[in-house]
Amino acid sequence: MEHRSLTIGHLFPDLLNLYGDRGNILTLQNRLLWRGFGVETVTFEKDTPLSFEGLDLVFLGGGSDREQLLVCQQLHRYREELAKFVESGGVLVAVCSGYQLLGRTFQSHGEIIEGLSLLDIYTEEGENRFIGNVVITTEIMGTPLQIVGFENHSGRTYIGNHAPFGQVISGSGNNGADGTCGVVYKNVLGTYLHGPLLPKNPQLADYLLQQAFMRKYGEPVGLISLHDRAEQEAHAYALNRFLHQS
Ligand code: GLN
Repeated sequence: MEHRSLTIGHLFPDLLNLYGDRGNILTLQNRLLWRGFGVETVTFEKDTPLSFEGLDLVFLGGGSDREQLLVCQQLHRYREELAKFVESGGVLVAVCSGYQLLGRTFQSHGEIIEGLSLLDIYTEEGENRFIGNVVITTEIMGTPLQIVGFENHSGRTYIGNHAPFGQVISGSGNNGADGTCGVVYKNVLGTYLHGPLLPKNPQLADYLLQQAFMRKYGEPVGLISLHDRAEQEAHAYALNRFLHQS
C-alpha cells in the first residue's frame, strides 16, 4: 500500500456545482485510490468555518450569479489564508464563477463586485451568454494537449499579463475575442470549462495530482498508467463531435 496521500478541499459544493462539477472531485479521488494512494476530502459548505491548513488541492466550482456573490462574500473573510495557500504553490482549480471571483472584479446584473484579487484579471458582463462545447490546446504540461469541456457564461474575462490555460480551437473561452481560455498562475488553474472537466481529460487530472504531490513531498510520485479506455473514448468522442460542429 502506497503511504502517500493527498487532502482535497471542496469549497461550497452546496452553492457551486453546475454541470457535474463534483465529477472533478470523484475523478481526483478515484485516480488516487486506484493507484493505492490515500485521499481525504474535506467539504466546506456555506457558513462552515474554512481552513486551508493541511489542504493539498482545492476545488471551487461554478454556479449562478446569486451563489457566486454568496461565495465571494464568504471567501473575502479568508482571503489572506487563500492567498497564502496560492503563493505557497497550493493547487487551486476554479471553474467559471469560482474562476471569475479570483480576479479583481466581476459584474453581476450591472453591478461591479470586488473579487479576491488573487489574480490580476477582471470580468465584465456581456449581452449574450457563451454556451456550448469547447476544445482548447494547452501547453501547461509541456507538450500540447487538447482539452474538451463545456462552457456557459455571460462573463468576459480579461487576463492581462497572466498566462492562459490554453488557446481556443472551438468555443468562446475567456471573452470570445482574444482566443484565450482560462488562466494559469503558479498552481492555480482558472477555467470556464465544466463538463465536468477532469473525467474527460484524465491527463490534466494527473498533472494536478502530481503538482500537489510535488508541493507536499518535494518530489514527484510515480503515477502508474490506469486503464483509461472509457476516459479516452469520451475525450475522443467529444473532440471529434465538437470540432466538426463548428
Ligand atoms: N456569473 C457567471 C457568468 O458569467 C456564472 C456562470 C457559471 O458559473 N456557469 O455567467
